[in-house]
Amino acid sequence: MSTTEQRVAVVTGGARGIGAATAVRLAAEGRAVAVLDLDEAACKDTVEQITAAGGKAVAIGCDVSDEAQVETAVARIAAELGAPTILVNNAGVLRDNLLFKMSANDWDTVMNVHLRGAFLMSRACQKHMVDAGFGRIVNLSSSSALGNRGQVNYAAAKAGMQGFTKTLAKELGKFGITANSVAPGFIATEMTKATAERVGMGFEDFQAAAATQIPVQRVGNPEDIANAIAFFAGEAAGFVSGQVLYVAGGPLD
Ligand code: NAP
Repeated sequence: MSTTEQRVAVVTGGARGIGAATAVRLAAEGRAVAVLDLDEAACKDTVEQITAAGGKAVAIGCDVSDEAQVETAVARIAAELGAPTILVNNAGVLRDNLLFKMSANDWDTVMNVHLRGAFLMSRACQKHMVDAGFGRIVNLSSSSALGNRGQVNYAAAKAGMQGFTKTLAKELGKFGITANSVAPGFIATEMTKATAERVGMGFEDFQAAAATQIPVQRVGNPEDIANAIAFFAGEAAGFVSGQVLYVAGGPLD
């Protein structure tokens, strides 16, 4: 890469929450950012925040679990911004339920968005990374990877992200590509707000209760996770690969 070229980052699920904070953070560090989410119009706020601060970003509508949409989206990113050499697999959904009440559909949806989505996006972007001799893949896992009641689908998917990450690191390292995983604890976003609603608690009370269980005595915010992702996505992290970093305000049991 010449010094005048700008690295291109793709952040899936970039319309809001952790993805939006990550897109803004990577743009602030000088990357052109493809803000990818199910609904292209929903990416507008993130893109505007980046461009208002002088950065470069485009909104891309894409379902990461759809092979054809992923191929089209990555080709569009390469054409409009340049070769995507930083990929943050962040798009996610919850379909929580106890095992005996969980539908096969809810199992499949969670597997498809997290695992199939990360696989399809990584496969589509890796050829650009190999050609560039540089790549950074960051996959969102979760503290739920260690097991969490009511989340047998999500816990399996997020543990799967860790095995996926380590394997990418082994396969792609010789091309200058690293792969790492960030595993957040409780982060205040629409996702945890929806969980509060599901269990019949106000979001403020839900966060306050969660904070009592966290050593730093607060819940996380999206920027806490964006900071960790930015480290793995950075030029300086080239010797750090195949790692899982829990970002949870303390150690987990
Ligand atoms: P969020 O606020 O719900 O945002 C997730 C984004 O992903 C949404 O904009 C959503 O779009 C998008 N998305 C869902 N399915 C998609 C698909 N098939 N293709 C493209 N985009 C899709 O979630 P968040 O809390 O920021 O979480 C981000 C990531 O961190 C997720 O992988 C999550 O599992 C992980 N995580 C979160 C926490 C937490 O406490 N919040 C903890 C551990 C791990 P729609 O709105 O249109 O559905």
